[in-house]
Amino acid sequence: MGEHSKLHERHKAVMPAWLGLYYNDPIEIASGQGCRVTDAEGNEYIDFFAGILTNMLGYSIPEVNAAMKEQIDAGVLHSSTLYLIRQQIELAERIAKLSEIPDAKVFFVNSGSEANEAALLMATQKRASNQILALRNSYHGRSFGTMGVTGNRGWSASSLTPVNTRYVHSGYRLRSPFKDYSDEAFIAACVDDLRDVIATQTAGDVAAMIAEPIQGVGGFATPPDGFFKAFKEVLDESGILFISDEVQTGWGRTGEHFWGIQAHDIVPDAMTFAKGLGNGVAIGGVVGKPEFMDSISALSISTFGGNPLATAAARATLDYVTDHDLQSHAHKIGSYLFDGVRRIADEVPGIIDVRGRGLMLGIELGDPGDLRPDTELAGQILEATRERGLLVGKGGLYGNVIRMAPPLTLSEDEAKDGLAILADAVTAVSA
Ligand code: PMP
Repeated sequence: MGEHSKLHERHKAVMPAWLGLYYNDPIEIASGQGCRVTDAEGNEYIDFFAGILTNMLGYSIPEVNAAMKEQIDAGVLHSSTLYLIRQQIELAERIAKLSEIPDAKVFFVNSGSEANEAALLMATQKRASNQILALRNSYHGRSFGTMGVTGNRGWSASSLTPVNTRYVHSGYRLRSPFKDYSDEAFIAACVDDLRDVIATQTAGDVAAMIAEPIQGVGGFATPPDGFFKAFKEVLDESGILFISDEVQTGWGRTGEHFWGIQAHDIVPDAMTFAKGLGNGVAIGGVVGKPEFMDSISALSISTFGGNPLATAAARATLDYVTDHDLQSHAHKIGSYLFDGVRRIADEVPGIIDVRGRGLMLGIELGDPGDLRPDTELAGQILEATRERGLLVGKGGLYGNVIRMAPPLTLSEDEAKDGLAILADAVTAVSA
């Protein structure tokens, strides 16, 4: 047995069985440069999934590495909430400003789950209620509270949860009863559902709604612009708070806007973030209105949150995003990718939907007639792209959506190379 196969056996022996790895023969990434990675066996790949949207700038970014090295050389690698941390405060100031939430405050944690957990804690305390509204098909994390707002039982490890959640129709249309509706009629139908859920399934004291502007794990389900504005008008009637989960959609990834929720022209009470901010280093947080953020008295729930190393990486990453205007770049390259995938879809009947914004692109596989999800085809595409040197993601309610979310630095040449591999792989497995 080769060294690589042995590693997989060791993984299976020492780690829990439910830790799902991609690919029949899982990859060990040995090095990375820009948007390309090389595995331990020397195979090279273009990374169209950016880790899991975590390597927002790609790999071996000199500016980010230098910022972390400076921190290491300064000898300050503590994690403590007891002292002032200059770069944490500066990062908070930057994120507060970028949030466009007036007088925003920021709280740092280490992951998306922790960020949502903290936001739910604030909202439920502020409103003295544990009733939450979420969207069907949502994914907000795997901690005890966030599993309780994740709208797909397959993604929740437990149904025991401290929150009391009701689920509303999401922006996903393909298999919804409203799939042929115009945008306006679709939004109106979902708003009717929201009103109905509030009136008939809650005790009238809902604390908050939490939602992803584009559902990530849910397969990049993308609601029409204005969808959440219409929701917010209903929520405002009862003082229900709105939390936008920007864990996948933040930092300009959606192209037209810096935050996904801005496509809906509303100011949320809070936004949660994580994934790409540290360019691979663990950091997450909540940014929100001061009355939301100050709603609890003692929240020392994160010893490691905002530690000097993570905030140094995050500051350098954020500087890179804004200095290079990667939001506009995501818009431009995203449109190029979208057009390319659309052309492939025209030739392949099994691709029944192409959707997304900027550098979040979902390809849904199914039967072109009755739309039955084709999970097997998605699995085959995953393997076939890997064999040809391209890493993509998978998602969707039935695991039948290929997800593409490359680093925001993806060049047009890399996009072109990735598209060629995708076309070849899809054609090979659809033949
Ligand atoms: N929210 C969203 C939208 C996510 O996609 C994820 C992770 N896939 C999370 C929250 C949870 O983040 P983490 O895995 O960092 O806890």
